[in-house]
Amino acid sequence: MVATKTRLVCLIFAGHSGVDPGTNAGGYTEAEFTYALALDLFRAIERHQPHIEPVLLTTAGHTGPTSRLGVQKKHCKTHRFLEMAASTDNIQRIDQKLDGLRVIKALYRQTHRADCVLIELHADARKGPDGLHVLYGAQQGEALAKGIAGANSKVIFRDDLRLLRLSPVPAVIIEAFNMASPKALKLFLRKSQRVTFAKQVAHRLCDFATH
Ligand SMILES: [Zn+2]
Repeated sequence: MVATKTRLVCLIFAGHSGVDPGTNAGGYTEAEFTYALALDLFRAIERHQPHIEPVLLTTAGHTGPTSRLGVQKKHCKTHRFLEMAASTDNIQRIDQKLDGLRVIKALYRQTHRADCVLIELHADARKGPDGLHVLYGAQQGEALAKGIAGANSKVIFRDDLRLLRLSPVPAVIIEAFNMASPKALKLFLRKSQRVTFAKQVAHRLCDFATH
């Protein structure tokens, strides 16, 4: 798929934003968790997967009181942080993301001769209580979704999700857990649980990139 020498660029999108905080549970917003998970994934890739370059993408206004979840931006050593414009209109917001992705894809092809993949993080898996769900919406995202999911996660095809359907790079949405499940929420409030999740995703991404 991708030659070993080629660095794969993993674009990590923290789902939701300031204007669209997502699900609420236990006094936390989903946007807080997506930010925390995105940073944990960024760091797991940066520390353990030298052939993959992580790039964190967020929407303007998506700062969230992440200190409550024990996260600070400055912890990332080589932090590439691209902020995209916020919008209150969902389709407009996704179109802005898609435009941004086209630019980023072209940029990394030129500067690194590398391919990009996109992982967007969420925490409101609707079906099933706790498990990891990996969603894809176009054929080019299927191998990535299956690679990241591993044996005990669900892979779900969703052609109604604009971002996944139209993404210029292989793209998946990872529903890391379901905030509405008190048990899962309690678990993911623990930093160690998020780091375990992040390391697992980073490891599977590496397998995907090198096979
Ligand atoms: Zn969500």
